[in-house]
Parts: sequence; C-alpha cells; structure tokens
Amino acid sequence: DNVLVRVENVSKYFGSFQALDDVSLDVNRGEVVVIIGPSGSGKSTLCRAINRLETIDSGVISIDGEPLPAEGKALADLRAEVGMVFQSFNLFSHKTILDNVTLGPIKVKKMKPAEAQELARGLLARVGLADQAEKFPAQLSGGQQQRAAIARALAMEPKVMLFDEPTSALDPEMITEVLDVMESLARGGMTMIVVTHEMGFAKKAADSVAFMADGKILERQSPEDFFAHP
Ligand code: ADP
Ligand code: ADP
Repeated sequence: DNVLVRVENVSKYFGSFQALDDVSLDVNRGEVVVIIGPSGSGKSTLCRAINRLETIDSGVISIDGEPLPAEGKALADLRAEVGMVFQSFNLFSHKTILDNVTLGPIKVKKMKPAEAQELARGLLARVGLADQAEKFPAQLSGGQQQRAAIARALAMEPKVMLFDEPTSALDPEMITEVLDVMESLARGGMTMIVVTHEMGFAKKAADSVAFMADGKILERQSPEDFFAHP
C-alpha cells in the first residue's frame, strides 16, 4: 500500500467546540502535503492527533496500515515513527544540542551512546550545525534551534515528519535556513505534513496543498492548481 498516513473521518471536540469535523486525509509515501488555512481552523489539532498528542472522538488514524492505539508501549513505538517539529523549538535547555539529539535514540530505541552520537553528528551536519553540537540551546539563534529540533526528530528515524508552523516564531532572516532544510528533506523523499503560512515553500516543495477551515479540509489540490489565478 502506498498510503503511509491515513486519516479517516476524524472528529475532535474540545467541550462542545468541534475542532475537527469529519476530516479524511491520505498521505502517500514520499508525499509532501502542505496544510494551510486560517488561525483556529484545526491545523494544529490535526497534526497533534496524528501524533496522538491529542485523542480523537471518532474516526481512525493509521500509520503504515496500523491504527494508532490509545496508549501504552504500542503508542510509544508508533509515535517514534512520527517525527514532530513545533513552532516553539521544545529543546531541553539544560542539555547540549548533541545530547538533545541523542536522547531519543538512547532512551526509546535503546541505541548505544556511541552509535547515537555518530547518528546525531551526521544529522547535525545535515542541518548545518556540525560545529554547534556542544552548545546549549540558548547559545543558538532561533533558526539554529529549529534546525536542531529537526535533527532531533530525524534521529528517531521517523516514517513521516509533521511540521506545525515551524518558522512562525522565527525572525525573517532565519526562516529561509529552516525552509531550506525542510526542502532538502522533501527532495530526499521524506513523507511530510507541513502546516505553514510560507506559500513559497508550498509552491516549491508541496506535492499537494490542503486547505482547512472550520475543522474541515475543504480542498486538496496540486500546488499548480491551488495557486493558479483564474
Ligand atoms: P490552527 O492550528 O488551525 O490555528 P488549532 O488546531 O490550534 O487551529 O485550534 C483549532 C480550534 O480548537 C481553536 O479554536 C482552538 O482555540 C481550539 N483548541 C485547540 N486546542 C484546544 C484545547 N486544548 N482546548 C480547547 N480548545 C482548543
Ligand atoms: P499552536 O500555535 O502550536 O497551535 P496554541 O497556542 O494554539 O499552539 O496552543 C498551545 C496549546 O494550548 C495546545 O496544547 C493547544 O491544544 C492548547 N489550546 C489551544 N487553544 C486552546 C483553548 N482555546 N483552550 C484551551 N487550550 C487551548
């Protein structure tokens, strides 16, 4: 099956407010889906549901054919397959960049520290941070911290990467360096779901663009069709 992420008829309520309204979304292996839509339309909730940071009230979300379980070890295993990068970088402030990246592989994947460090150094080089490994997050710029967050997510060798407004908290001059890393991941065949307001990224890197409003996916089109002006 070519579908890696399957969201089927998912609804989610916060109290009486319906944040997701019967959302269905299939993402194929290697596909890059950009989700755009107004603030409050449910984009973040959808990402968080795919990573099971939020429970859902109805519907099914499957990764690689396996429905996400509600809890337990199976959930931790499945979550390791879904890398997530948030608007705020969420790095551990008291750990070096290298330790931030090795933590997941050592704790969750039981990788030997030396092996995890080799993996981490390779990933840090890939995001342009080879010489920042021994620094602490506060010593890095926002753009560097976000690239470190991407390396940390990649260290778990995820099948899919979710990006929830990864550049929204960054100063303009740092946005490009993060988008460049994301574009290179996309070109490398990573399956990606990206919530962003960066239309340039959507035009260049997206295989399809989904438009959300009021908890629903209203349209899903190729970027060419989405951005075509009639
Ligand atoms: P978007 O990412 O498109 O801006 P969100 O998914 O963050 O939208 O939020 C969708 C709606 O759900 C918003 O109205 C938001 O206030 C609401 N919401 C999100 N999380 C919660 C929560 N934990 N409790 C109550 N309402 C929430
Ligand atoms: P993001 O910008 O990443 O979507 P938000 O600032 O919308 O993050 O939300 C941050 C956290 O607050 C999330 O865990 C979200 O579920 C929760 N949240 C968002 N809106 C509400 C709300 N109206 N009531 C309660 N919690 C909310």
